[in-house]
Amino acid sequence: MHKPHILIIYTGGTIGMVKNADTGALEPLDFNHLRHHLPELRLFDFTIDNYQFTPPLDSSDMTPELWVSLADIIAERYDRYDGFVILHGTDTMSFTASALSFMLEGLNKPVILTGSQLPIGVMRTDGRENLITAIEIAAALTADGQPRVPEVCIFFASHLYRGNRTTKENAEKFNAFASYNYPPLARAGININYQDQLIHRSSGNTQFSINRTLDNRVLALTLFPGIRPELIENVFRMPDIRGIVLRTFGSGNAPTAPWFVDALQQASLSGKVIVNITQCQSGSVEMGLYRTGVMLSRAGVVSGHDMTVESAVTKLMVLFGKGLSAEEVRIQMERSIAGELTIEQ
Ligand code: ASP
Repeated sequence: MHKPHILIIYTGGTIGMVKNADTGALEPLDFNHLRHHLPELRLFDFTIDNYQFTPPLDSSDMTPELWVSLADIIAERYDRYDGFVILHGTDTMSFTASALSFMLEGLNKPVILTGSQLPIGVMRTDGRENLITAIEIAAALTADGQPRVPEVCIFFASHLYRGNRTTKENAEKFNAFASYNYPPLARAGININYQDQLIHRSSGNTQFSINRTLDNRVLALTLFPGIRPELIENVFRMPDIRGIVLRTFGSGNAPTAPWFVDALQQASLSGKVIVNITQCQSGSVEMGLYRTGVMLSRAGVVSGHDMTVESAVTKLMVLFGKGLSAEEVRIQMERSIAGELTIEQ
């Protein structure tokens, strides 16, 4: 019998924090602190190793450089482990999960991110059940011995989600994450109930490799009635920006005022990629539905369909990082790379 090998990568986050007695603020501690509070780890009949970020971070300090470190850590140990669990602060966990889903190409092993809303040393912590179940999921196999969930996921509050579909929606409740446009891949109750038909599998002929270059010359802009023309014009003219995620109204609508449409058109013509996603929590952009949306397509804006802002921003970073032209990036933004968007057939 093969004994599963799991690597826990501890980046930081509330799960490993304790209260500083002087300031009362939560600060991260090292992995030994977690181990101390989790004697259950020894009960697994798995080999569980750990790798820790030094110093551990509050995830608000996460950066694309650290995503590259995470991808490197996984790639360098890819053959030695059956699955990876990343302990991460909840604040930017959806960004990290989205970025990794585009960086880890041809992934065929589980990469499960988790963390907690209450530190592991606190009696009512949610960290214990989140981590223990994440480890089980990272080791789970299908009947024919293949990894059951070979994609980048977030496991939190009994739900397993595709990482690039998630958003942190709650700063207080235990169920901190939502996946508005894609159902959970599994629910953990007495048993872990997997929805195998929903799980993304890389096509068999893609070799595992990582995209190590990210281009962060991107931004996300939320529209609101009354947004000033000068602001739009200046932002869309910024020379050092290559991709803009535009968070529009409803099914992908935006003002029809000539100053607005002109600014977008000029930006597209100058080689910027503008991606339309909705600022609604769920649902998709449909640019053909209203005249306002049609004007955006005419101005060169591409549809981000039902992508989250976390996915759209990190996908642009990865695609530009690969050295693709603006036109190639536009094409890829409208296609699914790692199950991040739904295209109605
Ligand atoms: N500020 C913390 C972090 O993101 C919050 C958490 O872990 O839940 O690192």
